[in-house]
Amino acid sequence: MSRTQSIKILLLVIVAAAMIQGGRQLFNHRHFQLPIIAGPGVTEVKKLSEYCQDIEDTMADTYVFFLEGKEPGGKTLIMASTHSNEPAALLAALIFLENAVMEKGTLIIIPVFNHSGSRNTRPGDGYPLYFEIPTEWGKKKFRMGNRDASWLDQWPDPDVYIHYPDRQLLSFIDVRNTNRTWPGRPDGPLMERVTYAAMQIIREENVDIAVDVHGAETMFPVTNCIVAPEKSKRIATMTTLTVKAREKFDNHVEPSPSGFRGLSHREIGDYSDAMPFLLEAPIPFLDQPTGPKTEALLMDGKDPFLLSLAKEGKLFVSYDETGWPMAKRVGQHCSVIQELMTQFSKKFPDKTISVQNVPRYADVVKNGVGHYYKNPDQADEKNVYFN
Ligand SMILES: [Zn+2]
Repeated sequence: MSRTQSIKILLLVIVAAAMIQGGRQLFNHRHFQLPIIAGPGVTEVKKLSEYCQDIEDTMADTYVFFLEGKEPGGKTLIMASTHSNEPAALLAALIFLENAVMEKGTLIIIPVFNHSGSRNTRPGDGYPLYFEIPTEWGKKKFRMGNRDASWLDQWPDPDVYIHYPDRQLLSFIDVRNTNRTWPGRPDGPLMERVTYAAMQIIREENVDIAVDVHGAETMFPVTNCIVAPEKSKRIATMTTLTVKAREKFDNHVEPSPSGFRGLSHREIGDYSDAMPFLLEAPIPFLDQPTGPKTEALLMDGKDPFLLSLAKEGKLFVSYDETGWPMAKRVGQHCSVIQELMTQFSKKFPDKTISVQNVPRYADVVKNGVGHYYKNPDQADEKNVYFN
């Protein structure tokens, strides 16, 4: 064997070893199961495929939890993990799921809405595959997902995504983005079927409030806010004013543009009787000019580059050495979601939605996010769902 041949074989072995090692990590991430504990308020658990059969036995299917109150009232749908790289949404949804008890009305929670996206990642951007939340019983481990569904579950992408039914031309990648595929259709691409199934929940269950929970860059103007169309504007405005006055954190309302199609805050309102709200809390991790995309940055939001940009007035949120800790973002979501229900109930008392046992902003900041999670090893097996 010549020297050149030996070098080629050696290189081949090194490349193959790197591929196997890297591939194994991605395989394990895609198959990592997140234990979710159905709390004392959960009365029924369904799958999303019960509302659109064609997602059954696909990576798009996911759990839908129902918390029905002792007394009838209005209904709220909370969707988290539309974008799984904005995890404060999932963390807030799990606080509701594991703790909330409904006095009046019904809460419907889909914690891992784009299930395929939650099992996807962005290796080119150096995303961590997992993150951990400290609790009183140890660390709870989560998958860090991506904004879009995986190619493994929906492929190929078109050159241009033609939105259904408006035929607006969107970026090709948005065909896998469940905040562009609303209102969806039962026989469209897989992500259109996911949003269609959620529309069916909203229409069949007569949902009054649909809350899609997100995170946004500090350099993006639509952050730390509620995005609301005209029909939801009044309740959104009362909510932001109330949390600002009583709980002392910033929040404002952004109008949902009527000409930009496919977004939850636009299409849910146009295609059902529900009032949609999209919540954004700042997530410095997603800003472009930061240091490495580490788990620490995801958790505390501290970054020296953002700090210098903040001093030049380039950010749309207040920002200092304390960064933007996860507990603040999750706490904001907990308060804003509860305040939306309070304001809705004031306006429509016959459809009161009253939730108990969920912390507000100050509680989450004081006690930490993990304080509200139960230990799956000690929970009754029948209440643990792997999502
Ligand atoms: Zn988002």
